[in-house]
Amino acid sequence: MKGFVSKNLQSSIEYLKGVGPHKADILKKEIQVFSFEDLLFYFPYKYIDKTRYYSIRELSGLQHPVQFKGQIVQMNVIGMGRKQRLSAIVSDGSGQAELLWFKGVKWWAGKLKPGTNYAFFGKPNVFKGKVSVAHPEVETDLQNQTPKSIWQPVYNTTDKMKRHGLDSKQIEVLIKTIFENVNQNDILETLPEYMIQKFNLPNKYEALKHKHFPTDLSLAERATKRLKYEELFYNQFRSLFSKHIRKVHFKGHVFKELGDTFNQFYENNLPFELTNAQKRVIKEIRKDFLTGQQMNRLLQGDVGSGKTLVALMVMLIAIDNGYQSCIMAPTEILAKQHFLSLQEFLKGLPLKTVVLTGSTKSKEKKQIKTLLENGDIDLLIGTHALIEDSVIFKNLGLVVIDEQHRFGVAQRAKLWRKNDPPPHILVMTATPIPRTLALTQYGELDVSMIDELPPGRKEISTFHATDGERLKLFGFMKREIEKGRQIYVVYPLIKESEKMDYKDLEDGFESISRAFPLPEYQVGIIHGQMKAETKDYEMKRFAEGHSQILVATTVIEVGVNVPNASVMVIESAERFGLSQLHQLRGRVGRGAEKSYCILMTKDDLSQDARKRIQTMTQTTDGFKIAEADLELRGGGDLDGTRQSGAASWIQVNLSEDYPILKTARDMAEIIMEKDPLLKDKSNQTIRWVISKTYREQEIDWSKIS
Ligand code: ADP
Ligand code: MG
Repeated sequence: MKGFVSKNLQSSIEYLKGVGPHKADILKKEIQVFSFEDLLFYFPYKYIDKTRYYSIRELSGLQHPVQFKGQIVQMNVIGMGRKQRLSAIVSDGSGQAELLWFKGVKWWAGKLKPGTNYAFFGKPNVFKGKVSVAHPEVETDLQNQTPKSIWQPVYNTTDKMKRHGLDSKQIEVLIKTIFENVNQNDILETLPEYMIQKFNLPNKYEALKHKHFPTDLSLAERATKRLKYEELFYNQFRSLFSKHIRKVHFKGHVFKELGDTFNQFYENNLPFELTNAQKRVIKEIRKDFLTGQQMNRLLQGDVGSGKTLVALMVMLIAIDNGYQSCIMAPTEILAKQHFLSLQEFLKGLPLKTVVLTGSTKSKEKKQIKTLLENGDIDLLIGTHALIEDSVIFKNLGLVVIDEQHRFGVAQRAKLWRKNDPPPHILVMTATPIPRTLALTQYGELDVSMIDELPPGRKEISTFHATDGERLKLFGFMKREIEKGRQIYVVYPLIKESEKMDYKDLEDGFESISRAFPLPEYQVGIIHGQMKAETKDYEMKRFAEGHSQILVATTVIEVGVNVPNASVMVIESAERFGLSQLHQLRGRVGRGAEKSYCILMTKDDLSQDARKRIQTMTQTTDGFKIAEADLELRGGGDLDGTRQSGAASWIQVNLSEDYPILKTARDMAEIIMEKDPLLKDKSNQTIRWVISKTYREQEIDWSKIS
């Protein structure tokens, strides 16, 4: 964790010996190194073994580059032209190895002399029992050579850095320079002594030193473990701490009543039995409503598990207790769809329900805002337009955020300020969050889970097909349409290649329109660049069954609900991430019909893409998919935001580092239990770190202790 060093180390990087203003500029731009400290936290991604010279006989079993010495006993230039290479046989008495150069052949042939001793460094290759080393580094002056005995760190550098003399070696030198000028006191300890003892961790100074210059790889590993533990501990402690502070500080509305609207809805409007999971979650939320504290709850449930209905019912509770509710969706399409389906659900109930999005006409917007401020709207549905400061509620009691992954902590915090006391917050996500991510990113939320789908859902069959099978695909689509079904065809849309993607989408739309001609077939198209009205029109046409095929970008990824659509074709499926594929597939299988998902890809796939496609064809379990996704993608940084400079560069891999995370979480829980306000003498280090880094609000210790 950064931010805990002496003044000395906070100096601007240009003042480091060997840097200067020009190189400082490059370090800032290329790797966000602004200070001495930043550079200390720029860690090597690997080490090379320069601990000793290996004998040539030892080389055959090795997987990593090493140093060795020997005499060149024979040298030949072999082949002609582009295939030309230099081969040199080197011997040290224990055995022989072949050194090979494919580039700079002439130069090396002139430089190396048979009968002379050299030191080499390179990665041995074994083929048919013979050891060779391609393009070794060569040390010619053995007399003057200072014997190295280290694991040499290797740092990531960009081309631009290299061009300006900031290659890995140079970074190594600069970091050495820093260490020559600091001591233990410059790097302040951020973990309490008892944790260091308990987990046998190096202190912070040692950890940084060993991370850069380990004399043994196990020391580098211990250093990594300590740095990760520290990040994870504070990540976990901070969430528990802010949860605690909110509980102590923020009062919450109490909703005692299960009133008329709720009961009427339950008795007259609810078209089906709630699943047990839905009932359980509603109970959990009701309990929160009675505590007098503000609720911050995450509701997880796979696509189609019926989260919207749960949201609706708890919003009715808020309304029955005299408060307004709102539900916020990530896209306009979804907001409008929520509006339509909630209106349908609420038929005959005396409620004022309104939708507000970015494309609401300004006159209407004004009207809505007035009604809202006067308390004449009970239930507001919308996009993030809802969190604009100009949207003022009379008495906001509950906010539901649908599809969490599009909303950040900052946006949530904005909502807390919409009312005093702040509204209860229910965050719903259909992207299953593996336990590790749930702990690190939503640690401050309580979690409810809908782990059961409504009865009667049919399994979705998923198939993988390649471009060559398109005719077969069209045949299948025609047969499904004959049965009265509807079909989505989705194209990827990635920001970086947006233009090409739109071209693909248009080409796709054309070819489908040709294969499914009017008047027999109606094909719709929908994407983000369309006007809102056109989008609405196309969506409505599809939802009402007038078009049989909807060609779309991922605008339909979340929430869209057309139960009669039973086939999802995903084009260039290899370009989608797993959770996106799962989301898209969740658009079908919502009615009573057998549903299908077809993943279209090109023929040759990368290993990762193949694994993703395989996962999709093998399971529909959102949690299994999320775990596989995490494994494939590895970690990611803890905040979910990559703030340059401020973010720590120790990379936590949430899939591999679960044991460290668990240890950190357990520790944080124990402390929260025993000493939540950090009064104990042994916890003063934590208190100091927390008060220096706490983001959400300034902590006024006198108020909370
Ligand atoms: P999601 O959790 O993905 O938001 P929805 O709330 O959109 O799921 O629900 C998917 C579909 O299931 C909707 O058509 C909804 O009306 C229906 N549904 C919800 N709860 C039940 C239930 N208990 N029994 C039958 N159908 C239900
Ligand atoms: Mg939903």
